[in-house]
Amino acid sequence: MSVSFQVLCLVCLALAIVSCAPAQVTTEAPAPTTVAAAPPATPLSAAPAATAGATAIATIAASATFAPTATAAPTRTAPPTIAPPTLVPTATPAPTAAVTCKTPLSLTPSQTEGPMYLANPPQRSNFRTDAANAGAEPILLAGRVLTPDCKPIANARVDVWHTDAKGNYDMSKTYASRGYMLTDSEGRYEFATILPAIYTGRTAHIHVKITPPGGKTLTTQLYFPNEATNKGDAIFDPKLLVRLDETPQGKRASFDFVVGP
Ligand code: FE
Repeated sequence: MSVSFQVLCLVCLALAIVSCAPAQVTTEAPAPTTVAAAPPATPLSAAPAATAGATAIATIAASATFAPTATAAPTRTAPPTIAPPTLVPTATPAPTAAVTCKTPLSLTPSQTEGPMYLANPPQRSNFRTDAANAGAEPILLAGRVLTPDCKPIANARVDVWHTDAKGNYDMSKTYASRGYMLTDSEGRYEFATILPAIYTGRTAHIHVKITPPGGKTLTTQLYFPNEATNKGDAIFDPKLLVRLDETPQGKRASFDFVVGP
């Protein structure tokens, strides 16, 4: 009995050992399987799940595609960059719109040339330095040459002559207080000169010839406001009065000539 019992006990023990061992292996096996399965779900264990990895890559790729799109925000900043050029052409019409200009403008009246004109004067626009003008009041004679519809005329020839500080015309070849210049792209002209002195029968005036490129010459004269002798001048025309302004640089006599084709 004792021997049989011992044998029986040994058998039972052996069976117990055998049955316990696989149970541990089985228990341990699922564990790693579970652990291994878990990782694929996480981005770090991409190796096992190739399809999931591809999907993930595709997703990342898509994200990467969006990233540049997000960076494309600067591209959206581009429109503002494009806007200015759009504004430029918009701004361009403003000057050509001639909003500040009454159209059509009246043509500048013509007046006699007089006997003191000398042909072929030099191209010069500063008469202040002429010796005969010493002591005279300096003025800046400036303005534009325009068409009746307010368009500036570039390269128009503006020919000026007048008396010196003592009311005399220089009839020599020194061309004192004489000269011409061409208007710029805005139709502007500018002469640094003096307020001409009067002579018998005439008020203060400046003789001018305007010749647009390929156009007819306008011959006329300009006058100054508040001159007591204006009333006694037989050909004085108030339409030909300059606008006289005080500026930090001295008196500015402004006049815009309007000439026909
Ligand atoms: Fe004169």
